[in-house]
Amino acid sequence: MSDTSIRDTVILGSGCSGLTAAIYAARSNLKPLVLEGHEPGGQLSITTLVENFPGWPEGIQGPELIENMKKQATRFGTELRMGHLDGIDLSERPFKLQIGKETVQTRTLIIASGASARWLNLPSEQALIGHGVSSCATCDGFFFSGKEIAVIGGGDSAMEEALFLTRFATKVTLINRSENFRASKIMLDRAVAHPQIKFLSNTLVEEVLGVEEKEVKGLRLKNRKSGVECVLEVSAMFLGIGHEPNAKAFTGLLDLDEDGYIVTHNHVFTTLRGQVLSGVFACGDIQDRRYRQAITAAGSGCMAALEVERYLEEHGR
Ligand code: NAP
Repeated sequence: MSDTSIRDTVILGSGCSGLTAAIYAARSNLKPLVLEGHEPGGQLSITTLVENFPGWPEGIQGPELIENMKKQATRFGTELRMGHLDGIDLSERPFKLQIGKETVQTRTLIIASGASARWLNLPSEQALIGHGVSSCATCDGFFFSGKEIAVIGGGDSAMEEALFLTRFATKVTLINRSENFRASKIMLDRAVAHPQIKFLSNTLVEEVLGVEEKEVKGLRLKNRKSGVECVLEVSAMFLGIGHEPNAKAFTGLLDLDEDGYIVTHNHVFTTLRGQVLSGVFACGDIQDRRYRQAITAAGSGCMAALEVERYLEEHGR
């Protein structure tokens, strides 16, 4: 007989990937527990209109999409809980998770804690997220057709975003805080050669203008060398300064790559010292630095839940 105090699966993260895993696991009667972390709903919950998620011909607001996924997951028996993960023991089965004072035991674990976009952390920037400030060109570029746009950063992400945004914007200004660019030569050359992209180096964003109007009107900039300030009129600011995977808690417990993303094999299998750690799966942006889309996160959440089912069939509940 199965021990009912041990859960079949716990899902860390309530973004697109974690909730898709929950829908699948709940429909298999696994009664998953979803632990909502410090960014409940993940990156979609800070987006506005999502136009590229299949099935919504007119688009859907990011928070509404997440709310729908939560309803869908709870309808089949998912338990959602706010909580901070204070400790994890993956060294023996069942796995143990310390959530506040409670120890939760689980046969399997799905890690879907995502990656957080890096922000400049200016109050004006934070106030305008979803109103012209965005960290996802693929998601929001379309809304600024025919407008002038700024992209922040000097790495490959910034180059990629700037190049992508030239499809919509009349002009893209790439603002790099340093003299030199971290981007690979090929990406940098491509951006430099593009007639719609202009470069500003050694430049810091001091303020995003338009907080009162609730839409980006421009950027107040400062040259780091000369100290000279100026205003750049733009309708949007896209951040391309990288992402931080929310995987610090797994340092030493699972294999992480040099940037701290969880290494996966066959899409969702985690490893420790190169060996698959059975029963522990990772999905969504915490293991995907390449696609980072809602639909790809959802897809890998589905895969993780299907692997949990297979694991429990093989190892018993
Ligand atoms: P990255 O290479 O670490 O570059 C981050 C950029 O953001 C740097 O220019 C950095 O400036 C700037 N930055 C960081 N924090 C900042 C802040 N607070 N204010 C202003 N600027 C800030 O990150 P990434 O571009 O996301 O690339 C990450 C990895 O993914 C790289 O290995 C990259 O090659 C890869 N990638 C590849 C592709 C592709 O091949 N198509 C596309 C995207 C990413 P400083 O230089 O001054 O620190």
